[in-house]
Amino acid sequence: MPQYQQLPPKGDNHASKQRLQYCAKENLLKHAISTQLGGHGDSFQELVKAHLHLGKHSQDTGLILSINAHLWGSIFPLILYGTEEQKQNWLPSLLSGDMISGHAITEPQAGSDVNAIETHVIETDSGFIINGHKRFITNTPIADVLLIYAKLEGKLSAFLVRQTDSGTDYTDSPNVTGCTTATMGDIVLTDCHIPLDRQLGKTGAGGMMIQSALELERAFIFAGIIGIMQWQLEQVVQHSRQRRVNGTHLGANQAISHKIADMKCRLESCLLWVNECARLKDSGKRISLASAQTKLFASEAFLQSSLDAAHVMGSEGLIAENKMTTLVQDAMASRLFSGSSEIQKNIIAALIGTGAGFKSQIQK
Ligand SMILES: Cc1cc2nc3c(=O)[nH]c(=O)nc-3n(C[C@H](O)[C@H](O)[C@H](O)COP(=O)(O)OP(=O)(O)OC[C@H]3O[C@@H](n4cnc5c(N)ncnc54)[C@H](O)[C@@H]3O)c2cc1C
Repeated sequence: MPQYQQLPPKGDNHASKQRLQYCAKENLLKHAISTQLGGHGDSFQELVKAHLHLGKHSQDTGLILSINAHLWGSIFPLILYGTEEQKQNWLPSLLSGDMISGHAITEPQAGSDVNAIETHVIETDSGFIINGHKRFITNTPIADVLLIYAKLEGKLSAFLVRQTDSGTDYTDSPNVTGCTTATMGDIVLTDCHIPLDRQLGKTGAGGMMIQSALELERAFIFAGIIGIMQWQLEQVVQHSRQRRVNGTHLGANQAISHKIADMKCRLESCLLWVNECARLKDSGKRISLASAQTKLFASEAFLQSSLDAAHVMGSEGLIAENKMTTLVQDAMASRLFSGSSEIQKNIIAALIGTGAGFKSQIQK
């Protein structure tokens, strides 16, 4: 396992890119990918272990988000839907981190409801022309290429758009307060021209592709975050032992120790959920329900444990260097990325045959 001792320091967009690339050079992006495609040829269980290890050492939710956007947002869609030529053209540089990527689904008027996507595409003899506006896209503006979801002939479809393609504007705004070490921005596409070989998957397959990418992201993005939660718990336990109140240690107060016990239970439950997703994937089973349950449970657990950790540490919890309130903001963001908690409940209800979302299961 890499020790991440040389992980470049946090900083600006360039630093975010360097940190992601460092992890790629440590071969983090190759888990659960066959050796024929340039991966390790190992299991999702191994992927979980490796991401957990990174989370514990980096304590950086933004880095975890960035890696997961790159992995599930474009590497896995290429593996699942790419032609042989597309895999050969794109995968080596994406797996090595020489190219950075992500996926662009959200728009100013289309968040949870992907059916409201307005970005549209016209096909010509020489290629595609894309017009539209994407928002809150992780790894923008550092991404070299993004998988953009847009409507072709009114049907949701997917296209690989390079930052250098004509008519693209990858921006650095709006400024979001959670997961700040991941870069995030808008993409404005104005008569953006791309060649015909940049369509990924079939016309109209976009909804299914979004669903499969988000299922994987929901299942495994918390593997890294659980590593951070382990570190968070260790900090709180240590603080509860060292801090003296009323002549004894802070943790002797049941109100405090019960909060810590709850943190431990949440952490272990998150781990069980993520490992269950890995077990299902490794045995070739579907993860639609398990991944929605994992995302819902883990993001709510992360937020509650982050609030508890900051509170147990008293005002020390508010000292920026202690990272506790940063994690609260990261946890708030985690309830939204890959689909909000409400949307996970809609999916869970729909998959067990009830709820308003029963008909439309492609919501984020
Ligand atoms: C850190 C971060 C990273 C992100 N990265 C990406 C990325 O890489 N690519 C990308 O495409 N997007 C990305 N997003 C956007 C994210 O996917 C959306 O924010 C999310 O889908 C919610 O959409 P919205 O913010 O427009 O909220 P809205 O859809 O406007 O929802 C607002 C509120 O209403 C609730 N709500 C909406 N619809 C329903 C419903 N049917 N039933 C019950 N409640 C509902 C929501 O849960 C939410 O609480 C990112 C967001 C964040 C915060």
